[in-house]
Amino acid sequence: MRQIDSQVLTETVEKGFIEITHLPGGDLIAALDKARQEEDSPIGKDILTQLLENARLGREEQTPICQDTGNSIVFMEIGQDVHIVGETLSDAVRRGVSQGYTKGYLRASIVGDPLERKNTRDNTPPFVHTEITSGDRIKITMMAKGSGCENMSRFKMLTPAQGRQGVVDFVVDTVLQGGGKPCPPLIVGVGIGGTFDMATYIAKKSLFRPVGEHHPEPHVKELEEELLEKINNLGLGPQGWGGRATALAVHVETYPCHIASLPVAVNIECHSHRVKTVTI
Ligand code: SF4
Repeated sequence: MRQIDSQVLTETVEKGFIEITHLPGGDLIAALDKARQEEDSPIGKDILTQLLENARLGREEQTPICQDTGNSIVFMEIGQDVHIVGETLSDAVRRGVSQGYTKGYLRASIVGDPLERKNTRDNTPPFVHTEITSGDRIKITMMAKGSGCENMSRFKMLTPAQGRQGVVDFVVDTVLQGGGKPCPPLIVGVGIGGTFDMATYIAKKSLFRPVGEHHPEPHVKELEEELLEKINNLGLGPQGWGGRATALAVHVETYPCHIASLPVAVNIECHSHRVKTVTI
């Protein structure tokens, strides 16, 4: 059994969150650049130019690309032949987020109790999801996810009779209802199937794919393409000021479900898409 000191996990998380807030990935930059080239609306093109300039400034001056440094989401794929020594896994990740947001001077945006609403002052607790896999490694994916876009996410239990068309209508309507609030151009994560909780889980997980990478199943890829086309025909455009680029990509994940169910979750991600994966 391989052993990993919990301090390694803490340091990985700390560094990861400091880095992603000012270093947008090459996949996001390429998608924004492509959207700018294809944008018909002058104001939309101008906004996309500003977003690319904002990303450059973040990279070169090491300043966060958005004032909302987000919910700290951590997905971990944990090999069953690895053992954490020292602190518990949860405490190590929590400490990493706390140290990252404190040392990186990142805005603390989390309240400890949703009704009393007192800020925890270090962006903890993180929202941690784990899956057990084979091997002796831990794959850690970190996302700083803004709440402007999270707030525009939706879930619905469709009836199986509503089928594929019902899914398309719900996803497109969710984007339409959000308007400019989730800071388009968006990455639209869609989870179809599973249960109430599984659908939302896979919708969020889909956002960890490189921007615009399609699902391997041809019929799901076809759905992603149709949804992107329909969403970009809405005319909302960058920041909701009109134009073609309402979304940069649609990522769909599916899961088996009960014969009586067709759950659909839409997790909306904004243009400040901050994700990084590290394997230890
Ligand atoms: S939704 Fe995204 S871009 Fe808009 S304020 Fe929040 S983090 Fe920033």
